[in-house]
Amino acid sequence: MTVSGQHPTFADFRRQRARMVRRLEAQGIADESVLAAMRSVRRHCFVPEALQDRAYEEHPLPIGFGQTISQPYIVAYMSQLLEAKAGMTVLEIGTGSGYQTAVLREMGLDVCTVERVRELHFAARDLFAALGISGIRMRLGDGTLGWKEQSPFNRIIVTAGGPNLPLPLLEQLADPGIMVIPVGQTRREQKLLRIAKREGRVTARTLGNVAFVDLVGDHGW
Ligand code: SAH
Repeated sequence: MTVSGQHPTFADFRRQRARMVRRLEAQGIADESVLAAMRSVRRHCFVPEALQDRAYEEHPLPIGFGQTISQPYIVAYMSQLLEAKAGMTVLEIGTGSGYQTAVLREMGLDVCTVERVRELHFAARDLFAALGISGIRMRLGDGTLGWKEQSPFNRIIVTAGGPNLPLPLLEQLADPGIMVIPVGQTRREQKLLRIAKREGRVTARTLGNVAFVDLVGDHGW
């Protein structure tokens, strides 16, 4: 923590990040590439300036336009569920602040990300440039339609919750491939699903309850 009234320094934030990662390890996150990425990506840069002091706490935070940056554990847990290896291609739906995107990039993945809110899309684009994060392909549009021109994807991660699994995403998932997506019959509460495609067959594993903002679009709410 910092002395009240003083702006936290680079070293303060680095310590807070190290503490956040130790907490994630204690909560069962074991994928070293996820932990290393979250130790390195400056999460406080992805939240509004007034909330930077709280960036490393275990809460989602508002990022404007009714949207939120997911809490650290959810980012870590979903990233780990992807079982991704460096060099794989991953499609993210819901760029939002760009934090999850940056974590995936830091894991060495080839990242495509889609956001429907114009302001968030451009803010994330500017932020990546300011932080020197390169090699991310970004698109403004309805992510429930996927990104056909860039498909197939080894991995797909959806960071907003819809009523069902969008068919275009399933079609654009490579074989073998893994998708992690929250799905719920009601808004504001979903079950996290891990979808695996292998030799033409699709299997789904239901994980815990989660609460994401709405996935809005042709195949969403
Ligand atoms: N991964 C983000 C989470 C942001 S919240 C982060 O780390 O900050 C989810 C985001 O999904 C919101 O920005 C919302 O605008 C976006 N979203 C909702 N429906 C979408 C859709 N159909 N296509 C693309 N983005 C969508």
